[in-house]
Amino acid sequence: MSDCLFCRIVAGEVPATVVRESERTLAFRDIAPQAPTHVLVVPKDHYPDVAALAEQPALLAELVREAHKLAVEEELGDRGYRLVFNTGADAGQTVFHAHGHLLGGHELGRLA
Ligand code: 5GP
Ligand code: ZN
Repeated sequence: MSDCLFCRIVAGEVPATVVRESERTLAFRDIAPQAPTHVLVVPKDHYPDVAALAEQPALLAELVREAHKLAVEEELGDRGYRLVFNTGADAGQTVFHAHGHLLGGHELGRLA
């Protein structure tokens, strides 16, 4: 059994509210949402962060496409959204399985 939380969610060993799935990605709602829409989009395979994921450009592109399709489904296509990849300590990355935060549904303010 993997000790990676998001690998366990992908495997169905930890419950999550899944909102979208593609061949190689899964999207599920963040357990502690910070915006009206706050969804995590992850590759099903394990990569520790977005830099490692970027070694597979087609997979990274699939993840970004899936995030955009989900934003449209959540009616954020016109008003906009933010897709964030926290990477490393200063950014506050806590789960070391690459994930994009799809955030939207209210005005998001400046970045930092
Ligand atoms: P990070 O801080 O690494 O960029 O993002 C990790 C995110 O995972 C956080 O926003 C946190 O709320 C979320 N999270 C942590 N544990 C769980 C969980 O068990 N289920 C879900 N759905 N989200 C989680
Ligand atoms: Zn993992």
